Amino acid sequence: AKAKGRDTLALYDEELDRVARERRDIETDLREVLARDQLHLHYQPVIDLDSGEVAGYEALLRWYHPKRGIVTPDDFLEVAEETGMIVPIGEWVIRQALAETGQWEGNFRIAINLSPTQVRSPHLADVVAQAIHAHGIAPHRVEFEITEHVLMQNSDLCEGNLAKLRELGTKVALDDFGIGYSSLSYLRRFPFDRIKIDKDFVEGIEASADNQAIVSSITRLADALGMAATAEGVETRAQLDLLRKLGCQEAQGYLICQPVPGENFATPAAVQAAM
Ligand code: C2E
Ligand code: CA
Ligand code: CA
Ligand code: CA
Repeated sequence: AKAKGRDTLALYDEELDRVARERRDIETDLREVLARDQLHLHYQPVIDLDSGEVAGYEALLRWYHPKRGIVTPDDFLEVAEETGMIVPIGEWVIRQALAETGQWEGNFRIAINLSPTQVRSPHLADVVAQAIHAHGIAPHRVEFEITEHVLMQNSDLCEGNLAKLRELGTKVALDDFGIGYSSLSYLRRFPFDRIKIDKDFVEGIEASADNQAIVSSITRLADALGMAATAEGVETRAQLDLLRKLGCQEAQGYLICQPVPGENFATPAAVQAAM
């Protein structure tokens, strides 16, 4: 039994080594990511459930890694946050999303995710102001998505930045709503324009009366607070129909469209034709 315990420990050590090495590799490669032009944005449409029209697109970051292939944010955002590299990366995201949006026909919204460190960065509002000006995007078309982790920091810089974003005329959405531990209290701290209902509540909604009750409560709460509600992670027609019935205004998910690289932009007309 002792030998077995030792083997398990050895395996555990190896695993720790592997994770640490992996992290170091990501960190090293990430330092070069901007200089090497390896970042790209993919765009996923969001549709209005009443009209079926495209209401906007969410920009989702992708790292085209020469060896690993297309890496999604879950595999590098944490390292980017911890090292502060998220600030220049996030500024690139803002500029790139607005530059690409400026080239496309239509008045749809463009949603951009912001991480906690970005919202504490002193230049955030300047970068946004410059980019909307440079690309001629009406500020009200730009919406920033933040999770409650941003507000948990409770910092003046963060509150100040959010206030500045509102002064610029851009919108702010509360992302991943419902899965945190005190989402409700954050609704009181900041006047969000939108709540994004986490995909956890959309998944299995057909079979779960509880999830249906939660989604319909969130949409009514949003409505009462003068906010819109968007459901994310919609993968089936049944989910889409239910969300509409429960009063949710907008939806996003693989059923409607996968996130698509800017080069192959899925135009509103193409998205609607495919629905
Ligand atoms: P999120 O903001 O909650 O974005 C939604 C995630 O769900 C995206 O994952 C999207 O690809 C995925 N998704 C969309 N439709 C479906 C569906 O029908 N089913 C399922 N299972 N998933 C779906 P992704 O692109 O891997 O991004 C993960 C997270 O990384 C995002 O979660 C967001 O928090 C963060 N992120 C993405 N881009 C950026 C960025 O530019 N800056 C920052 N700071 N964070 C970003
Ligand atoms: Ca988001
Ligand atoms: Ca989300
Ligand atoms: Ca998420």
